[in-house]
Amino acid sequence: MTPRVQEKISIPLHSIKEGVSEYKFRSKFVESEVLTGCEFREKIDVSLKITKGGADYLCEISVRSVGHFICDRCLEEFDREVKASSAVLYTYDKSSAEMESESLHVLSASADEIDISSDVIDILLLEVPAKKLCMEDCKGLCPVCGKNLNTENCSCVKDEIDPRWQGLRNIDFSK
Ligand SMILES: [Zn+2]
Ligand SMILES: [Zn+2]
Repeated sequence: MTPRVQEKISIPLHSIKEGVSEYKFRSKFVESEVLTGCEFREKIDVSLKITKGGADYLCEISVRSVGHFICDRCLEEFDREVKASSAVLYTYDKSSAEMESESLHVLSASADEIDISSDVIDILLLEVPAKKLCMEDCKGLCPVCGKNLNTENCSCVKDEIDPRWQGLRNIDFSK
């Protein structure tokens, strides 16, 4: 299952004038958890600036949402804002397509709209961190008793001794 936005985010080509046009959208992610290990519970705010020059439509896309994550270290859930922006070029000019790039889409002669739905998803997902920490210096869970060391202290001995061998320490070998 590929994540997608709830409603298509698109602009009819005939409505775009030469020069700069700006748009705002709000949409929602669906099936976001499947692919990313995070969930976007809030809406996604999208700002789009299109600069049209001849056959080219340069789309500067900014996205913002709040991701719901699980900390890799302490397993607590937390929310964090995710913001990113990127530029994508839509063009009728096939020769541009030779400069093969992920951020370039060639419009077919019959195209009647620019659909940035998948660009929005790509931009946002790229910004999701691989390592998810509730805070930079999260202390994580105690490997012995499992307490969350950000909120509680414990007196476990976390040294090199495996707790299963702890008993050997108390044996007096001098007898
Ligand atoms: Zn944490
Ligand atoms: Zn402990």
